[in-house]
Amino acid sequence: MTAQFLSEVQAALGSAAIKTAPADIEHHAIDWRKRFFGKPLAVIFPANTEQVAQVVRLANQHKVALVPQGGNTGLSGGATPDASGTQAILSLTRLTRVRHQDAANKTITVEAGVSLQRVQELAEEMGLLFPLSLGAEGSATIGGNLATNAGGTGVLRYGNARDLCLGVEVVTPSGEIWNGLRALRKDNTGYDLRDLFIGSEGTLGLITAAVLKLYPRPKGVMTALVKIAGPEDAFRLLQIAQSRCDAALTAFEYMSAESTQVVIDHFPEVARHGAQIIGGMTTDASPAAASGKTSARSDCVLMEISHAESERAATALLESVIGSALEEGVVLDAIVAQTLAQTKALWHLRETITLGAAEDGAQVKLDIALPISALVDFIDQMNTEMLSAFPGVRLHNFGHFGDGNLHYNIGAPRYLAAGKSPEERRKIYLGYVEENEQAIRRLVHDRVVAMNGSISAEHGLGQLRKNEARRYKTAIEFELMSKIKLALDPNGILNPGKVL
Ligand SMILES: Cc1cc2nc3c(=O)[nH]c(=O)nc-3n(C[C@H](O)[C@H](O)[C@H](O)COP(=O)(O)OP(=O)(O)OC[C@H]3O[C@@H](n4cnc5c(N)ncnc54)[C@H](O)[C@@H]3O)c2cc1C
Repeated sequence: MTAQFLSEVQAALGSAAIKTAPADIEHHAIDWRKRFFGKPLAVIFPANTEQVAQVVRLANQHKVALVPQGGNTGLSGGATPDASGTQAILSLTRLTRVRHQDAANKTITVEAGVSLQRVQELAEEMGLLFPLSLGAEGSATIGGNLATNAGGTGVLRYGNARDLCLGVEVVTPSGEIWNGLRALRKDNTGYDLRDLFIGSEGTLGLITAAVLKLYPRPKGVMTALVKIAGPEDAFRLLQIAQSRCDAALTAFEYMSAESTQVVIDHFPEVARHGAQIIGGMTTDASPAAASGKTSARSDCVLMEISHAESERAATALLESVIGSALEEGVVLDAIVAQTLAQTKALWHLRETITLGAAEDGAQVKLDIALPISALVDFIDQMNTEMLSAFPGVRLHNFGHFGDGNLHYNIGAPRYLAAGKSPEERRKIYLGYVEENEQAIRRLVHDRVVAMNGSISAEHGLGQLRKNEARRYKTAIEFELMSKIKLALDPNGILNPGKVL
């Protein structure tokens, strides 16, 4: 059956569109975190929407499961096949055409395999802004962004991927093409099919193209890295910033001292740019460096303010927020980036936390959302409970605080690997995580749900949280989701074993 499927796909798409050699498919078979190891039957690379539909029709005929994949940067194992050797990966990365640019309507229509960074660049060339932004934007694709309803750092002002998409083109699980590429901001004509496919993690349809919403480019964007005493002051700073700036506050990222420590440890050249605020390291010029001492580590906030008029106006607004916060004793110190290079360096520090953690070794990765009003209580209570249940663990808590979204990640106790080589350390941390992950997840997620939060703010369920979703979703919610899946994909062709 599978051999016949492959030979028919090859006849339809040409032999260059199918890869089966282990060396060619290995990196498609493992997720970004190297947490899930699949064994794909093949990786198929259709070149356009019609070819995607052909593959899906053949998959239905031969009952072969397809796992959609974009940039493979997802953090929940959604793009990784199982280990049966019977599921084929369907890569959308050859769908890279820009179909339409409409500066007057402030929209761009691109195919699913275009990278997020490319869309940002195209928008810039149009004098506009595509505000979706996340650490993996060089590799992540628009199809993957929409399939996971990605969040990132601009959600506070512009919303997540769902809010930035006006229309989609989708290949259904039966191999039909739905052209829903409407460039409309209003369209109340029945059930919102677009929203059904966005965030469905490749289980309901293959997104092959999308109409994306662009925004006027702010003339001034200013960034500050701010030292705070703890989460409560992060919350107070957020209130001050929002009351003064409203929508001009475009990012508000919290970083606990533990979370930036992995950047200090593994990418010190990146951490150097925020050394004055994050502490914990020396810079060549600092008095601490001369004495060989390290400074105390601090929690901090990365705050961004955008202004339609000018850089000067953005700076004035940012400085007024920091001034008020200093007066109220909410902020201990701050660096305001003076140049674009400094701005990029501060953002790079924030975005390197995920890479630093990957370099450090395994962690329990959590991606939770709470009402913003509950964040401080959650962190206080959870930190205490966590350290009492799992003494010595590292609380790598950071994330999109302004959206109520925390990556409340837990690292193995540092002492376990004291004096060991990096390789031994990774092995020890992995062992700790494997042993304790279920209990840690349960502890955090039970509290999150009790406080009316979500166990996945932006990374999706994939395979990682699938079983947990069963525990926390109500029976009716689960039943409705299952009925939708069955109605659209009765043969279970698309991404089986994910989400549901
Ligand atoms: C360093 C780093 C930082 C990150 N930061 C963030 C962040 O701030 N916010 C955030 O939300 N995420 C973040 N992520 C996660 C990831 O980048 C996003 O989930 C991204 O949207 C995935 O895009 P992708 O093209 O890599 O999708 P993939 O990983 O290839 O796939 C993700 C899911 O979408 C499905 N899929 C992919 N393409 C399609 C398609 N065309 N049609 C239907 N289904 C499809 C797959 O089957 C899978 O279920 C980060 C990841 C890394 C590595």
